[in-house]
Amino acid sequence: MHLFNLKIIKKQYLALGMLVFVVLFLFNSKPAFQCQLTPDSSAYLPTIYGITPTYARLAQKADLTRLSQTLMLVKNFHWIVIEDSASKTKLVENLLKESNLKYTHLNVKTDKPKGSSASGVEQRNMALDWLRGHLRSPEGTPGVVFFMDDDNTYALKIFDEMRKIKRVGVWPVGIVGGMRVEMPLVTDGKVSGYNAVWKPYRPFPIDMAGFAINATLFLDFPEAKFSRKVQSGFQESEILKYVVTQQELEPLAENCTKVYVWHTRTQKPSIISPKKLKKPLVPDNHIEV
Ligand code: UDP
Ligand code: MN
Repeated sequence: MHLFNLKIIKKQYLALGMLVFVVLFLFNSKPAFQCQLTPDSSAYLPTIYGITPTYARLAQKADLTRLSQTLMLVKNFHWIVIEDSASKTKLVENLLKESNLKYTHLNVKTDKPKGSSASGVEQRNMALDWLRGHLRSPEGTPGVVFFMDDDNTYALKIFDEMRKIKRVGVWPVGIVGGMRVEMPLVTDGKVSGYNAVWKPYRPFPIDMAGFAINATLFLDFPEAKFSRKVQSGFQESEILKYVVTQQELEPLAENCTKVYVWHTRTQKPSIISPKKLKKPLVPDNHIEV
């Protein structure tokens, strides 16, 4: 009788011991298990939201092809393309579909008032509206906003640079504003001035291709947008004034000593009107160029 009781007690101790062992095992192994599932913070890659206004012209497909094929090499990139047109075109729609890029296709026609020559104002503002909605939704991921004109030239290094941005990053831009290179000047790691000759009195004498902005700032400053009310060349200063001061600018591209983006411009092609040709040609209207 006594022995039998002892056996039961022993069994109970054994079961309790095993339970403690299992609990300890699970508890101990949990962090290691979590590590495998949670991405390492150094592997976290901010999304780059590239905002590109575009309009129909003879070299449009050539420019967009070159740009989209650069973007295919960029990780975590979301291309927001806004056509300056009353409706979306098949050319841009097909180009985006075939690119396999992550994209958002929008359109708004510019109705330029007299005395305002700026391009892309309504298109970029529409993209910012879309972005604010996206960032507030569950699909919205943190990242940076880069305003990318469709005929510039972008080195892949510029995308690596802009992922380091906390607030607003700046860097030199090649072949712009009458200069080989327009650039912020850096003293002790801070922007202390600018090398710019075209309207150097601009609050931020920086080209659209010379900066990127932490996307969260567009939620912090819901009024930040481009404007038709400012003089030509002041669009960059207009958007930047909402989100940053000169002291807060983060100089990138090796303290603004490297050129990773060029303000190239595609020459307007001149083609011969078919009516002027003596030799009749086979019609080519059905071919997209
Ligand atoms: N753009 C536009 N509508 C226009 C003219 C330009 O949407 O009527 C776009 C253009 O495709 C480009 C950006 O606005 O992405 C800046 O225009 P552009 O490259 O002509 O400016 P620039 O090279 O003179 O600075
Ligand atoms: Mn351009």
